[in-house]
Amino acid sequence: MADLIRLLPDHIANQIAAGEVVQRPASVVKELMENAIDAGAQNIRLIINDAGKTLIQLVDDGIGMSETDARMSFERHATSKIQKAEDLFNLHTMGFRGEALASIAAVAQVEMRTKKRGEELGVRLQVEGSELILQEPCQAAAGTSISVKNLFYNIPARRNFLKSDKVEFKHILDEFQQIAIAHPDIFFALHHNGQKQFHLPASNLKQRIIQVLGKKYAQALIPISEETDIIKIWGYVGKPDFARKMRGDQYFYVNQRYIKSNYLQHALFQAYEDLLPQKMYPLYVVFFELDPAKIDVNVHPSKQEIKFEDERLIYNYLRVCTRHALAQHHVTPSIDFDQ
Ligand code: ADP
Ligand code: MG
Repeated sequence: MADLIRLLPDHIANQIAAGEVVQRPASVVKELMENAIDAGAQNIRLIINDAGKTLIQLVDDGIGMSETDARMSFERHATSKIQKAEDLFNLHTMGFRGEALASIAAVAQVEMRTKKRGEELGVRLQVEGSELILQEPCQAAAGTSISVKNLFYNIPARRNFLKSDKVEFKHILDEFQQIAIAHPDIFFALHHNGQKQFHLPASNLKQRIIQVLGKKYAQALIPISEETDIIKIWGYVGKPDFARKMRGDQYFYVNQRYIKSNYLQHALFQAYEDLLPQKMYPLYVVFFELDPAKIDVNVHPSKQEIKFEDERLIYNYLRVCTRHALAQHHVTPSIDFDQ
């Protein structure tokens, strides 16, 4: 009998992989923003139309790409960020899987303009459904601009599965805010359907939190900052009076990467003990910095889940640090510092 197994052609393999990386417009926003940050951009502008369904454009002033790199960047598993397996445990970049641009270009119409600093001409590329349509030299500012048009234009089932513009734009806002808070030293702008949504001048963490979450939090932020040989924790936790019924303004970052962790959240809430009424949740923006060898971020393509080598230790340390910060600001009844 004839053999039955064949290798899938690249464009189909890319489309399948895209299912994991690109769930909705917000996933594209996240990947493009992370790439701009990895490229050392100081100014990142995001232009969105129709909640990202028709256009997601990101313009950065990062290192840009050579013509060959620009072309390579759309290949699957093509990355400048890691070279060998060990590098996975010594990550200093947001990206490393080399999958995002290949996946995005498999399910959208993508145009890239990029130029390295000091070069006279840049390059313009158009890729549609994994196929290179155009590649030519062009005038360009130093850095990279990528436009992702008509997401899922070639997969009607996925396109129909998208939610309303309101819901999809909310997802985009979440990604934008998570990343903007982690990088207060970078200028970010966000426009939606021609209207300015955010314009965030480079600043410090406290000002960035206020820029993003609102002036109402100016009085709410209690600094937290401690370190040991193996871990550093810093950021802000909210005063109990500013706690809200809804969860939402809660941000954990590990080595500047936004993560979700019910486990660590529990530690933080524990520190408030009975300072909070039932079902009220405090704001927090907390950064953990530790040796990349002690964490594994390669658990899921979205990289929002991570594994710690010693989770219990981090749990306890976070609880103690938060308790400490609250006590220093006289918001814990149980510890008396300077009376
Ligand atoms: P990864 O970020 O995991 O390496 P991507 O598919 O997101 O994979 O990007 C592939 C490569 O393209 C990156 O490794 C980088 O070299 C290059 N690249 C992507 N976006 C940019 C950008 N905005 N500026 C400069 N280089 C970029
Ligand atoms: Mg990337």
